[in-house]
Order: sequence, then C-alpha cells, then structure tokens
Amino acid sequence: MPSEDLSPRVITLGTAGGPRWWSSRTGRHRHGIATAVQVGEAFYLVDAGLGVGRQLERAGLAFDDMRAMFITHLHSDHTVDIPSLLLMGLYERDTRAADPIRIIGPGNRGALPPVSDRAETPPAPVCPENPTPGTAEMVGSIVQAYATDFNDRVLDALRPSPLDCFAAEDIRIPEGIGYHPNDNPTPAGMAPFEIYRDELVAVTAVLVEHPPVAPAFAFRFDTAAGSVTISGDTTATDNLVTLACGTDLLLHEAIDFDWVRARYGDSPAEADLASIDHHRRSHTSPEQAIGLAERAGASRLALHHLVPGNTPARRWEDLGDRFAGEFLIPDDLDSIPFTRKDAGIHTSPIKVGA
Ligand SMILES: [Zn+2]
Ligand SMILES: [Zn+2]
Repeated sequence: MPSEDLSPRVITLGTAGGPRWWSSRTGRHRHGIATAVQVGEAFYLVDAGLGVGRQLERAGLAFDDMRAMFITHLHSDHTVDIPSLLLMGLYERDTRAADPIRIIGPGNRGALPPVSDRAETPPAPVCPENPTPGTAEMVGSIVQAYATDFNDRVLDALRPSPLDCFAAEDIRIPEGIGYHPNDNPTPAGMAPFEIYRDELVAVTAVLVEHPPVAPAFAFRFDTAAGSVTISGDTTATDNLVTLACGTDLLLHEAIDFDWVRARYGDSPAEADLASIDHHRRSHTSPEQAIGLAERAGASRLALHHLVPGNTPARRWEDLGDRFAGEFLIPDDLDSIPFTRKDAGIHTSPIKVGA
C-alpha cells in the first residue's frame, strides 16, 4: 500500500480582511479570512471568517479531518463563522469520532481598551458585566445562544452534543514576559512558545501588535517537510520576524493605505479619523510585509487578509519584484505547498475546489 502523501500545503479558504461584505461589483469576490494548513489527510484551520464552512466543502476538505481550529484574535472578521462551524459541523461529524476538535484562541482581554482621544463623550461599553470574553467563554456563549436548536438536534435527531464535538481553550501567555493588554501588549524580544503538538505538526505563537486588540497572535506550523507562518492581523512587528525566521512560507496580512486615504481622507468626522488611526497603528502595507519577509529569510511570501477585499490583484502583484523570493497574491481556494526547498520538491501553487 502506498504511504500517505504528507507534503504540507496551505489552502487559502478566504483571503479578504475586515468586518465587511466587500462589494463584488469589480467582479472579484474574496471570502472572509480563513486558512487551512493541510498535512496528508489532516488539516488545521486558522481563523473562521465569513463563508468558511462553504469554502471547506468547496476545497474538498472533510470536516472530520480537522484536527484543531486556531484563532489569531477575536475580531469578528476572524470569528464570525465559528457559530456555523459548531451548528452545521454537527452534521459533518462522524458520531463515533472519539476526540473533540480543539478550538484554541486568545483568552479574556482582562481590561477594556482605552477610549479614543477623539471621543467627545466616553461611549458606554456593551455587556459591562463581562466586556472582554475570551475564546472559551465565547464558544460557551454561542452554545448557550443556540441551545434551543442544539437540544432539538441532540434529543430528537440524536446528533452528538456540541460539547462532545468541540473543546474550546484559551492560549496561556507565558508568565514573566511583561505582557499587559494595554501597557505592553507585544513584549519585545519574547520567545515563540508552543501551543499545540501532534505527530504531524508543532504550532508555536508570538504576540503581535494589533491595537487595541490584545492578545493578538501569529502562528507557525512546523512539519517534518517544511514550515508556514501566519501573521494574523498586525502592524509591522519584530516578534513576527523572530517567529518566521527561515520559514518556507509566510502568509502576511496587507492593507492598501492609498485606499484608506481615499476612503476616509477628506472627511472631517472624528469617527472616520479614528478609523484611519486604527488602520495606521494596526495593519501592514505590502511594502512593509516584503521587508519583514526579507528580514525573516522566508522563501515564499503570500499576502492575504487583503484590505480592501475587492481591489484588483494586480495592484498587489505589481510589488512582487521587490521581494527576492517567490511572491504570491493568492485567490480564494489556492493550494500553496510549503515543502522546504532543499527537500527537492518545490511545487507550484494550484487551484482547488469548484
Ligand atoms: Zn482582520
Ligand atoms: Zn483584526
């Protein structure tokens, strides 16, 4: 019997960033940010943006082959379809599956972010009794919110309980690195730390800079044949360079700051100026992403979490000759190998799915 092909790859399920539906009048439609890291039959999901369940199906990835789900940070464009994965995943899971799918993400922020200097009067937070829940609390609240449906499925249709199918947990930030959500959300010089391991992958993380979000993580998957590093949402951050050192593929977010200027620039409204502040402090230009990939010595750089999500690809692609390695602007459902070059099997990206 032939041995299983364990050459690793990512499948870009969704490549748009931002909590938006992004008009597709330009003819280009990108789904919300979500990435599958595939090793043999098994895969690992990073972020659950808009449309992720449908995109898994179009990519031909069987739900039960998902080993774990990783959430970089709790912004809605990365988490909005967790409910659909929990609810519709019940019908995709083999009822004999022994182990729950782990959902691994940031813990409770622990403190509200500061109010913008541009606020004329301080806004009232929502849910002041627990204003910054983490991943485990969020998943628990989703199950509670849909308990009527879940109990129909479990009691009447004898589907497995979501509590048996999924196990959410918060990432524990190492002690002693000086982390604080408002005063020091991205401790300089921190060492990558392990958050997951099985026989196929080891996953490590660092804190990245995406204020006011805290914690916000980048993840690196190391396999026997190669590595991929996924930036999450971040401005240009030295910790990311540390994590991505020598990586075979860096998937980095990118924003078009010309679009930000055009979208908000002439408006005097304080809310618009606050949005511009956020984009400048919290995201990365394609030129900056190229600089980070060079510093890390990445073999391949692919830009994703593209903002805006409906810009023609050539606007990004035109920058490619500035990067010494291979530069990619993936569409949704591209399959990008990340086998080490010295392994002698450096294959090209292909399209998957319908
Ligand atoms: Zn985002
Ligand atoms: Zn974000």
